[in-house]
Amino acid sequence: MSMGSGFDIKTLVRPNVLNLEPYHSAREKVLEGVLLDANENPYQEEWEGVCLNRYPDPFQRKLRRALADCLGVGPESIAAGVGSDEVLEWVFKVFCQPGRDSVVTAEPTYGMYQVTAGVFGVDCHCFPLSESFDFDAQGFLSAVPASAKVLFLCSPNNPTGNLLNQEQIRMVCRNWGRIVVVDEAYIDFAESGSMLGDLDLFPNLVILRTFSKGYGRAAVRLGYAIASPEIISFFLKVKTPYNLSALTMQLGCMALADRESRDANISSLRRERERVRSELTRLDGVFLVYPSDANFILFRCREASAIVNRLFDKGIVVRDRSSVPGLADCIRVSIGLPEENTLFLTELARLLGGN
Ligand code: PMP
Repeated sequence: MSMGSGFDIKTLVRPNVLNLEPYHSAREKVLEGVLLDANENPYQEEWEGVCLNRYPDPFQRKLRRALADCLGVGPESIAAGVGSDEVLEWVFKVFCQPGRDSVVTAEPTYGMYQVTAGVFGVDCHCFPLSESFDFDAQGFLSAVPASAKVLFLCSPNNPTGNLLNQEQIRMVCRNWGRIVVVDEAYIDFAESGSMLGDLDLFPNLVILRTFSKGYGRAAVRLGYAIASPEIISFFLKVKTPYNLSALTMQLGCMALADRESRDANISSLRRERERVRSELTRLDGVFLVYPSDANFILFRCREASAIVNRLFDKGIVVRDRSSVPGLADCIRVSIGLPEENTLFLTELARLLGGN
């Protein structure tokens, strides 16, 4: 099935979701007035100006408006969840019938796509990225099973760090009449390469973003999908009515308003990334340092697992990826504060030098 001009998203939506009458929460129509409709406690409780005794806005209006203004899309193209992990679940709920439909991941990649498929009882096929960790759309199109409903791509990819080629992503969006999810969790660390500008071209494209990385708000648990208003309407249909707390939404709006400190953090993380990369390249025992558009670096080194353990003993925690297919000898290190990066580099040099 390819994307003709008559593409109809409804043919991909699970029939039970298509026909579902969603739960109508008391707070859909009004947020103010004499509110005697939701069995709330009327005695006002506030924390930092956030109302705690009333249910939060199920339609996330303020947050979606603020995000829309930042991204240059309409609020009807956005839905926010408890981390992008929740948004991933909506993809399965809306499009994947357990036991019948399947999904595809482009490996090696972020493990949650496969785990979430397992949770929902949906088969997950692994399609390999190339040796340079790029996505081959033609190869995918000729190999993809008929049962596949969703392809998960991650760009910049975790754990390899590279942006996927945009032309290849466009090719698969154009020629595969199913859902293409592009997880842009790390896009703020890349100079360019977002698929956001292609949203109007591809009604089957879903972009995932998060506040956990560039915005530095991992503890808040806030992520969102950007997609056609029709896809978003199905996500809103399957989400729980009050998935985001008022605090979460307020913290999200505050993060969006504080662009200056976000941009400053991102600039210094990019600078540090290049410093760590160039220092790693110089170390004896480091075979290869992959380029990165994210806030981490993947590198191959001698005795990777042993090195990870010995760094751990020194209180330096990095991610051993050496047992992942295609990632023999690989370690993934996140970019930390400058002094943390220096400690890591010094200790790694010492361990590789045999001291
Ligand atoms: N996508 C990718 C590619 C990730 O690496 C991660 C977390 N490491 C997430 C999503 C999770 O995002 P969130 O914190 O918004 O659930």
